[in-house]
Amino acid sequence: MQAWVVDTPGPVDDGPLLRLEREPPEPGPGQVRVRVTCCGVCRTDLHLAEGDLAPRRPRVTPGHEVVGVVEVRGPGAGRFAVGERIGVPWLARTDGSCRFCRRGDENVCTHPEFTGWDLDGGYADACLVDERFAYRLPEKLDDERAAPLLCAGIIGYRALRAANLPPGGRLGIYGFGGSAHLTAQVALAQGTRVHVFTRGEQNRRLATELGADSVGGADDPSPVPLDGAILFAPAGELVPVALRALDRGGTLAVAGIWLSDIPSLRYADELFEERRLRSVTANTRRDGEEFLFLADRLGVRPTTVGYPMAEAPRALADLAHGRFAGAAVLHT
Ligand SMILES: [Zn+2]
Ligand SMILES: [Zn+2]
Repeated sequence: MQAWVVDTPGPVDDGPLLRLEREPPEPGPGQVRVRVTCCGVCRTDLHLAEGDLAPRRPRVTPGHEVVGVVEVRGPGAGRFAVGERIGVPWLARTDGSCRFCRRGDENVCTHPEFTGWDLDGGYADACLVDERFAYRLPEKLDDERAAPLLCAGIIGYRALRAANLPPGGRLGIYGFGGSAHLTAQVALAQGTRVHVFTRGEQNRRLATELGADSVGGADDPSPVPLDGAILFAPAGELVPVALRALDRGGTLAVAGIWLSDIPSLRYADELFEERRLRSVTANTRRDGEEFLFLADRLGVRPTTVGYPMAEAPRALADLAHGRFAGAAVLHT
């Protein structure tokens, strides 16, 4: 089979990925091998390719929004039938025994493994998944539209909950890419007022089409005080901007796995009056199941741009340079 790997991390335009011929992996106990049909392109893949995130294994295959069909089941694997469509997400495995797993917070497990970082992911013809961490996907969505739900959707949903909005509250969304455009759909369907701050004409147009209450530039002042906000752009300089836009008691949730440095904060304007700043780290399987249920029920519909698997580097470069709105998805 063919598989892309991160060969030499560096600027995406310098070609950090390499395509190799590899033996299809054999599933171990509790694992299944998935024949990949689609794999979403997440900003985390770009951070790995460019070296913002340190590699955890040399020549790992990126990709953690994998849709495919079960091809081979390993010993003891029986949750899914051979031929069944499943999704392979970012959270690949947790130890199940650390103090965080035992209290239900497996997203901050002390020994987690992630698809496309510790384990080979979906920029390939096939990959493995521990069946306990895979998902069934909403039947209404085809493979290309289901793929972005698996990380962009789930992490955005966790961030939305972290922003701790009251019913009918006012949400600020900073940055409007793959994750934000799904999160906005959930928030709007639940009656939240959504204010979007983003660069890029295409992103602004998509936010308007989806029904955002207002759409402005990345660091424009908010037209209303915000009850909560989510920072999707990996731009630390927007943290004080978003904190200043919060109403008293509001929460800013940072959704990304990587953020550039945050400038110093002014306590009186940016934190006092019980404004809160918090991060979002991975997700629990329960977040995933809840989000996929809601996405189906609320009719969340990803805006996607398809690329052949052979053009994975072009898809990553287009993401880096903001050349599309919504989410890129690779097809085998
Ligand atoms: Zn754990
Ligand atoms: Zn991701």
